[in-house]
Amino acid sequence: MSRSREYNISCPACGAGQFVDLYEAVNVADDPQLKNALMQNCLNRVECADCGASFRVDMPLLYTDPKYNMMIHWMPESVEMPRDQIQEEFDRTLEQINEIVPDDVSVPNVRLVLSRVELVELIYMLEAGYNQRVVEYVKYSIYTRNMEKVDPARHRLLLNVEDSTDEELCFVTQDTINHELGGILRYGRPAYQSMCELYDESPDEFVEMFPGPCISARYLLLEEADS
Ligand SMILES: [Zn+2]
Repeated sequence: MSRSREYNISCPACGAGQFVDLYEAVNVADDPQLKNALMQNCLNRVECADCGASFRVDMPLLYTDPKYNMMIHWMPESVEMPRDQIQEEFDRTLEQINEIVPDDVSVPNVRLVLSRVELVELIYMLEAGYNQRVVEYVKYSIYTRNMEKVDPARHRLLLNVEDSTDEELCFVTQDTINHELGGILRYGRPAYQSMCELYDESPDEFVEMFPGPCISARYLLLEEADS
């Protein structure tokens, strides 16, 4: 079930306060139009009643798609709520859920993302049947081979599902500060596919590298740089 609630927010342009309905949970099976709004960057977008400014309100959102057994939490990263804190709190919540769920109940794939672009990328990826851990492994090797051009501290690397072909996976860089898209990097699909076969034979190494719920080459590299 999708869920929205009324919030009292102030316009970032003029400061005027107003009450608006914002979505906290989106279930695609019940409300496919909300998925479209999310993909078009219109979900939780507000037009100020006073000055007309249009802005998006980023807040925790639970995205579920029963068809793909998908449950993705988007917890927006911010100065007040940095990445490591989000991850710690989320891990604690997951532990609590696992304690109360009986062993014979299958828990859907729970994922955590920290930005809207990551959420959109992951939806495309899972719908198209990509193995997320293998894709992030590919990104990891692209980052480490192109550190000067693609710095994980500054750039996101996003899989562009729509532009990928039978021959190549197409990745695009995005600047995390000004959000501009940059260069395109290609990776042979046969190499990706043989890694998927490796994954199917023994997933342990991949799972160890990306245990989840936040599966991200960039965050792994940032953690490695920190330690
Ligand atoms: Zn305003």
